[in-house]
Amino acid sequence: MAKWPYSTQRWQRLRRQKLREYPLCEACLQVGRIEPATVVDHRIAINAGGDPYPPLAELTSLCERCHNAKTRCEQLGEDFMRTAVISLSERQLDIANLRG
Ligand SMILES: [Zn+2]
Repeated sequence: MAKWPYSTQRWQRLRRQKLREYPLCEACLQVGRIEPATVVDHRIAINAGGDPYPPLAELTSLCERCHNAKTRCEQLGEDFMRTAVISLSERQLDIANLRG
């Protein structure tokens, strides 16, 4: 299943680093849920022009459930913003980005 860049040592290192610094699901945190993250997701998809090895701030730590919800929406061609949790988290991230 693992394909580039996920099969590379470089990605594995980056993923471990992200999970060490952001051990909790960032989407769940936005709605006050404490859930350990197991997946590191690109904030900007690689096929949308995102850096495959971006800085940690451009990666999102997600739990299995949030990652699945996001992936399912993308596969259905739906705007994943419709998913309540993700929607909320993305809005907050947008606000955070504006502030930054
Ligand atoms: Zn989550």
